Amino acid sequence: MSANADQVQFTAYGPERFAEHLPFARRGHLFTVPGDFPEDTPANTNVIDWQMAVYRSQGEWEVRDVDGNRKVWGTGPSRRVAVGLAFLEIARVRRARAADIADRRVNVLGLEAVPPYTVEVTDGVTLVLTPQAIAHLVRIEATDFGHPANYHVTGPNGGGAYVIRAEKNVELRTLEVGVLHIRCGCDPDGHRFDNETDALDYVREELAVWEVCPKSPGAPAAEDQQPEDDEVAGMAVIARTVRRAYSDATELLVRAEDYTVTSVLADGSAVWTEHESELPDGMHFELVTYLADLLAGTEAPAGLGWRESTEPGVFTVSLPPVAP
Ligand SMILES: [Zn+2]
Repeated sequence: MSANADQVQFTAYGPERFAEHLPFARRGHLFTVPGDFPEDTPANTNVIDWQMAVYRSQGEWEVRDVDGNRKVWGTGPSRRVAVGLAFLEIARVRRARAADIADRRVNVLGLEAVPPYTVEVTDGVTLVLTPQAIAHLVRIEATDFGHPANYHVTGPNGGGAYVIRAEKNVELRTLEVGVLHIRCGCDPDGHRFDNETDALDYVREELAVWEVCPKSPGAPAAEDQQPEDDEVAGMAVIARTVRRAYSDATELLVRAEDYTVTSVLADGSAVWTEHESELPDGMHFELVTYLADLLAGTEAPAGLGWRESTEPGVFTVSLPPVAP
């Protein structure tokens, strides 16, 4: 989120804000210059947000940073002009610094000007897993010493709040969902890497589900592009549920009309079909719920990139890769 002088929010300060020996007026206004300002500097050169003060000084307005060198960044006949000049000066200094960083990376370190790999976390959910159910964790309630905590949860649709006691067979699992950006020009906030090995090590360690940004050169074609975050998280939960019983599952067949899984496949071969037996451990109910959640409001699963199988109304969907 970048900013400019016209969008600044001011907060008044009084005599208690700064010690008397400091070079700020007793009264004035505080505002923030975001660390990612100006927008045209790459995210790897961002700094922390700066708090600034603007106040009257010798018939003019003056802008000074609060926590750094307390340097004057702008003065003018009005607050608006002083703040505008401060933004211009900060932009100039930060652009010069960004150019120095790029120059040093290229000419001293022999790297690309901007780290080519960025891992961005886009979504995350903490699940409470019990032998019977999966729920979304809302909060943890501490209880008396020696008694298990209570997990306040909701069902997978966000409804049906209830409580699960933190007993031995109950497990918490956080699924982080993210995107690996490779020379795609997105410039998101995230962890940056100069080589693929380090980037992939990090992705495999930190993310349960991830995709390469579709704008990256050589990324999968448009029809395989990264789905919406909700969809990624939804498929992660479905995959996790299926793999409780079929650990090598790679693909499902789903009847769209009633959200029913009709087959589980592992590398193209069926490891379970609805004609054979029931799914174990209440899995059928869970999967119907998750699939209903995922497909609700969708015209046709084909819109999510699912392919219709040889049986009309039954779609095949690949599961995300297994988290290590
Ligand atoms: Zn990208």
